[in-house]
Amino acid sequence: MTEKVALVTGAARGIGLATTQLFIEQGWRVAMVDRDGEELHKAATGLNPVSAFVHDVSIPDQVDDMVHAVRTTFGRIDAVVNNAGVADFGPIEDTDFARWRAVMATNLDGVFLVSQATIPALRESRGAFVNIASISGLRASTLRVAYGTSKAAVIHLTKQQAAELGEYGIRANCVCPGPVRTKLAMAVHSPEIIAAYHDAIPLNRYGTEREIAEVITFLCSEKASYVTGQVIASDGGFESTGVGLP
Ligand code: NAD
Repeated sequence: MTEKVALVTGAARGIGLATTQLFIEQGWRVAMVDRDGEELHKAATGLNPVSAFVHDVSIPDQVDDMVHAVRTTFGRIDAVVNNAGVADFGPIEDTDFARWRAVMATNLDGVFLVSQATIPALRESRGAFVNIASISGLRASTLRVAYGTSKAAVIHLTKQQAAELGEYGIRANCVCPGPVRTKLAMAVHSPEIIAAYHDAIPLNRYGTEREIAEVITFLCSEKASYVTGQVIASDGGFESTGVGLP
């Protein structure tokens, strides 16, 4: 049996690392991509079968080199998980253009660039994209103009991929996590925000990296072979309540 290959961006920690670990348990090989070389190599140590690729998804030349290196190493790509992301909390009046661009560069440009560069490989494998957006892309708040807008755009980009690439047998879906205690979230979640999330979420807790990874790997699997163009919130029920983001 051919072991399938997943390319996971932002794989050095958090949701990307949990997704890598779960893919391995399910018999996949994983190309772990991250711009933080030190953390990536630490994360990849002891994981098998994986290869680490230190590249920045927001830089076109690096993305092309990375995809070439992944295809040379593994010979195929069956799933692309566009997970690399950066957080930013700020209202529109306080967000200068450099900050706005930095968020868009990774969260939106990165998804576009990696997706475009991997289409030939996914056409060969009739593979799948899973893009990681956020509940912040579904619901506006007074705090997240750049982050929320970037994630809303990722939701639309996913639908665009599904519409355009279905004829090649390529599926594209989007996962919108609720809050998870990763480095990204905990850098911006104050004790007040944490308490407000606990109140607002019907399950009254944060999610775990593993819970998000389960949804991602399901969408990449044959079990989801007739699922494409979907936006799935893994958020403890938050989106269903209509309550505003803390
Ligand atoms: P994290 O900070 O733990 O991990 C993100 C990884 O992405 C890091 O290893 C970082 O080095 C890497 N990265 C960032 N920019 C990159 C770039 N330009 N090129 C390559 N690698 C880059 O964050 P996480 O919480 O695991 O987030 C993963 C995804 O989930 C992100 O897209 C994030 O927006 C989304 N998300 C997270 C939460 C949450 O509460 N943690 C909620 C909703 C959505």
